[in-house]
Amino acid sequence: MVVETIRCGILTVLIGVILLLCPVAAWAGTSPIVVLDPGHGGDDPGAVDQLNGILEKTINLEVARRVQHKLEARGYKVLLTRDQDDVFCHAPSGGFVKRQISLEERIELANGNAADIFISIHANSFHDRTCTGAEIFYHRLSQDGRELAEEFQGVLNGLPETVECKLKASNYYVLRSTTMPAVLVEMGYITNDREGKLLLESTYQEKLAEAFAEAVNRYFKKVKDRRTGLSESAPSTAANAKAS
Ligand SMILES: [Zn+2]
Repeated sequence: MVVETIRCGILTVLIGVILLLCPVAAWAGTSPIVVLDPGHGGDDPGAVDQLNGILEKTINLEVARRVQHKLEARGYKVLLTRDQDDVFCHAPSGGFVKRQISLEERIELANGNAADIFISIHANSFHDRTCTGAEIFYHRLSQDGRELAEEFQGVLNGLPETVECKLKASNYYVLRSTTMPAVLVEMGYITNDREGKLLLESTYQEKLAEAFAEAVNRYFKKVKDRRTGLSESAPSTAANAKAS
């Protein structure tokens, strides 16, 4: 009986450790679906910094691909609204035509696949080149969206390079039309010389991607804890991990 109790205890501890190390494994037995939306693409470059020749669409896609790899390595199912600059489609006259992904198609990918969260990735620009900092937008009526945005704010503020990360409620089309918690992340200003250069660096893109993956992990851990009745304020391995 004592041996049984010890065995049972060891098993419980082992399962606990596995769940802490891999929060996704505890997500109702299935992998959460994350839709990553690299903003713009094709003929729409998004923000442009004429001075340094930076196009927002390129940075968005680079970071999104890196986030995809990091999330997939953690067991998430990831869907990208675009995985190249633009897409090729059958033209009515035969052959293929290049075109952009519309906002409706991006939303449909998330809603149609019953995604668990939606993350739109962007970079900012402004005529005042001293303007810096990241901004996280969530829909003003979505408490879940705000919680997801707070996790992003937390990890971005943890990066030494980030000047400031602000949370902003909004009514953006992609945020109000998606049926799951959604955020739009403005990673920084490409028109600021320091931030523009940083956003082009693969090492900084890697850091951003790791931070995004950590934010996603923390969010799902929090939701799981709530579902299983654990205290929301209870410290966890994931929540205490410092973003690298
Ligand atoms: Zn944009």
